[in-house]
Amino acid sequence: MADLDTFRREARAWLEANAPKIAYEPVPSTDDLCWGGRKVAYEPGVKQWLDVMASRGWTAPTWPAEYGGGGLDRDEARVLSQEMASLGLRPPLIGFGLSMIGPLLLQEGSEELRREHLPGIIRGEVRWCQGYSEPGAGSDLASLQTRAVVDGDDFVLNGQKVWTSYADKADWMFILVRTDPDAPKHEGITFLLMDMATPGVSVRPIRLISGASPFCETFLTDARVPRRNVVGRVNGGWTMAKALLGHERTMIAGMGTSDRTTTSDSLPDYAREYLGVEAGRLSDPVLRDRIAQLEIDRRCFELTLARSRDGMKAGHKPGPETSIFKLYGTELNQRRREMMVQIAGPQGLGWDGEGFSDDEIRVTRDWLRSRGNSIEGGTSEVQLNIIAKRVLGLPD
Ligand SMILES: Cc1cc2nc3c(=O)[nH]c(=O)nc-3n(C[C@H](O)[C@H](O)[C@H](O)COP(=O)(O)OP(=O)(O)OC[C@H]3O[C@@H](n4cnc5c(N)ncnc54)[C@H](O)[C@@H]3O)c2cc1C
Repeated sequence: MADLDTFRREARAWLEANAPKIAYEPVPSTDDLCWGGRKVAYEPGVKQWLDVMASRGWTAPTWPAEYGGGGLDRDEARVLSQEMASLGLRPPLIGFGLSMIGPLLLQEGSEELRREHLPGIIRGEVRWCQGYSEPGAGSDLASLQTRAVVDGDDFVLNGQKVWTSYADKADWMFILVRTDPDAPKHEGITFLLMDMATPGVSVRPIRLISGASPFCETFLTDARVPRRNVVGRVNGGWTMAKALLGHERTMIAGMGTSDRTTTSDSLPDYAREYLGVEAGRLSDPVLRDRIAQLEIDRRCFELTLARSRDGMKAGHKPGPETSIFKLYGTELNQRRREMMVQIAGPQGLGWDGEGFSDDEIRVTRDWLRSRGNSIEGGTSEVQLNIIAKRVLGLPD
């Protein structure tokens, strides 16, 4: 414990000495955080914060030091994140490298692939995207048709992916391909790592009604990917796909635990701003009850998730229970976003134009974006199926 106290003191002092001013500035949404990669144009200070944290491996605090990670144990990592939170520091880096493919490589990747890819993720040099969904394969992902045929030392890929978040900004993709069309559908899939600069890979952003283009279509025409880029074994990709989804679902579930709002530090503070206070308490008793219940649910879920993450850091592989987290975390985030719109009243229904602050427009947009949480990473219905079959053991 004395060691942990020393670590806390040293970590805090180091953070205070090294964090640039911008690291203390609140960020309106995850899109505004640093995702790294070769294509990013950094705001001044953001790259400095990334580099200084990466130099200690603290962009990936629990990853082994031999790959450039922080090498912290789970208690130290918890202390570090507590100190960052108490100083109000933003994360120096986020992305699918840190939250999805990195953890999978640590769990299942060969030493060669780990050495090739983990340092670039930790330093924020490479941004990753996920090539799972296809026009005919969403919930029924194992029906995917993108073909990969062996030719010499390479696979040659042909097909199409869809809903590829940020493919236009990514440098590498982890992709599921069909390598044996004659095998049962779950047994003919391979998990590959593909450089987006490979000839034959083209990306077309999908423009949404909001004007934003967070998703892309990705087309593959005779794209050559080295055979050594297989994670796991050829035709063993379904096991890798599920393992990665365990990490993805835990990450999405974490959205339900945030206690910050766009405008204030906490939901009760945000409600006080809009609804006013009487005798030190929120003036609307019904909303007061609902906010209290949401905060209790959020805190309980946060602790459950922290326990599970501790288990993962101690080597426990995420299993089908991550579907429970994904389902519940999604519902919590959606409840919270809806409540924020409700609290703001008409001011929570701005889209753009006059009469709404940037923060109020953000509240509306975050509320709409949260609807996607129950689709991405596998829909809520699919999570319920997994919970029924693989957690509760119910018959088909
Ligand atoms: C914000 C967002 C980001 C995304 N990012 C990515 C990405 O980066 N990479 C990627 O590969 N994909 C991505 N996706 C795609 C996502 O994985 C799919 O949308 C999702 O798996 C559902 O597939 P689908 O859209 O084809 O819907 P469908 O599978 O066609 O489902 C339609 C409806 O039918 C229901 N349904 C389907 N099967 C069953 C069943 N067996 N039992 C009960 N109900 C069922 C579903 O729950 C849903 O309500 C993203 C999606 C969103 C919303």
